[in-house]
Amino acid sequence: MIFAANFKTNHTRASTKAYIETLLTKIITKRAEDKVYIFPPATALDQFSGDFILGAQNAYMAQNGAFTGEIGLEQLEEFEIKTILIGHSERREILRETQAFIAEKFAYFQSHGFEIIYCIGEPLEIRQQGQHSVMEYLLSQFEGIDISYEKLIVAYEPIWAIGTGRSATSAEIASTHEALKKTLQKPLLYGGSVKPENSKEIISIRGVDGLLVGSASLDVESFAGMITD
Ligand code: PEP
Repeated sequence: MIFAANFKTNHTRASTKAYIETLLTKIITKRAEDKVYIFPPATALDQFSGDFILGAQNAYMAQNGAFTGEIGLEQLEEFEIKTILIGHSERREILRETQAFIAEKFAYFQSHGFEIIYCIGEPLEIRQQGQHSVMEYLLSQFEGIDISYEKLIVAYEPIWAIGTGRSATSAEIASTHEALKKTLQKPLLYGGSVKPENSKEIISIRGVDGLLVGSASLDVESFAGMITD
């Protein structure tokens, strides 16, 4: 299983360091095959040692240059970061990243050998139209994306379940993952209001290879519990 924590715009450099130190002591008993990823804010990127992978929530597709407010490859290389989240719905919706822009970013980080956690997810009005519309929408989010890339992990995150406290039902997760797996031979994570109370049930669903956790990952006890439970 894969357990990934997306801190979004939460935690500082100091609190991320303390979080990681605590997390590593708590997950000492984790199953050897399980993988843990932490995506802190850019200001908390650093070099850590331990049985987990530190990734970037975002970066610009350039080595360096005139891209005010962005970080590029050079800033990631400083900390040997080789994992990145791309396509998160908050970047698609709030930061207005288009599919074409996302595909360009994907291609750039792919060309630099990054492991990519690529996020897809439908809005509520599409979910309400039924599974056929959901799949059409989700598959359109692979436009321009090389889904055969060997370092690709996909995260299915229904937008209506992100940060709302309302996770998709087990049946919704199972049917969507099963349908996605017909196109996608890659690890497939679920994200959207995963918390200690539902994480065990979600990881037991066939076709779920791990979790991408936002709000409930901010508390180290809560995230560690999901890993070691
Ligand atoms: C996310 O944004 O990746 C996410 C899954 O958030 P939350 O767990 O808060 O719904």
